[in-house]
Amino acid sequence: MKCLVVLTGAGMSAESGIRTFRDSNGLWNNYRIEEVASPEAWEKHPEVVLEFYNQRRKQLFEVEPNAGHRALVRLEEKFDVQIITQNVDDLHERAGSSHVLHLHGELKKARSTVDPDLVYELDHWELKMGDTCEKGSQLRPHIVWFGEPVPLFDQAVQIAKTADIFLVIGTSLVVYPAAGLIRYVERDVPKFYVDPQAFPVHGVPKLEVIREKAGKVLPKLVEKMLNRFA
Ligand code: NAD
Repeated sequence: MKCLVVLTGAGMSAESGIRTFRDSNGLWNNYRIEEVASPEAWEKHPEVVLEFYNQRRKQLFEVEPNAGHRALVRLEEKFDVQIITQNVDDLHERAGSSHVLHLHGELKKARSTVDPDLVYELDHWELKMGDTCEKGSQLRPHIVWFGEPVPLFDQAVQIAKTADIFLVIGTSLVVYPAAGLIRYVERDVPKFYVDPQAFPVHGVPKLEVIREKAGKVLPKLVEKMLNRFA
C-alpha cells in the first residue's frame, strides 16, 4: 500500500466553525495569541491562559468534523494514511481517521506541570486553577505553546520521509518547524497544497497548489487520488 501523508493546519477545521488565529486577527479578548499561548503567559496569568483554552475546548464539544475531514477517511480504503496535524482539535479522529499525530498537542488533554509524562484525558470543557495531577501540581493544557519545543517533530519528519504522496491542507506554512516538513519529502513525490490563500512555496518540486476551501475540494481530490494513484 502506498503511504499518503497529510499535513493539516487550522484551515482544515475552519468549515467546522473553528476560527483560525489569522481570521481572528491574532487576537482573543484584546490579548495577542502569544500572550495566552506561551510559557511566559502561563507564568504571568495562568487563569487567563486556562480561560482561553476552556473557551476553545467548550467550542470543540459543540462542533463536528466537516466534509474535508470525512473525505480524508475515505483515502484509507486504498492508502496507508498518516495525518500530521498542527490542530489541537480532535476532528480528524471523530471523522474516523486512524493515524493522527498531533504536533501541537491536544485540547482535550491536560498535563502535570511537574511531570510531563502525566497526561490526562478531559471529558469536560473546564480546567480550573486548583485542578491537580496525582503528584499535586497544577494541571496545564496539553498544548505546545509558542517558544516551546515540539517533542513529536522528529517522528513527523520520519513519517514525511516515507510519503509516496504528500498532501498539505489549510496551513499558511509559516509556523515552524511544522512548515518545514514539506522539505523532508522526497523530490519526486507528488505534492498537493490545498488552501484558498496559499502563499507561493519555492524550491519544492512536483507541487500542485489548489486555492480552494478544504470542505469543497477534498471530496473531489480524494476521488481523483483513489482513481489515479492507488
Ligand atoms: P495557519 O498558519 O495554519 O493558517 C490557517 C490557514 O488556513 C490560512 O493559510 C488560511 O488561508 C487557511 N484556510 C482558511 N480557511 C480554509 C479552508 N476552509 N480550507 C482550507 N484552508 C483554509 O494557522 P493559524 O490560524 O495561524 O494558527 C497557528 C497555529 O495555531 C496552528 O498551527 C495550530 O497549532 C493553532 N490553531 C489550531 C486550531 C485548531 O486546532 N482547529 C485553530 C486555530 C489555531
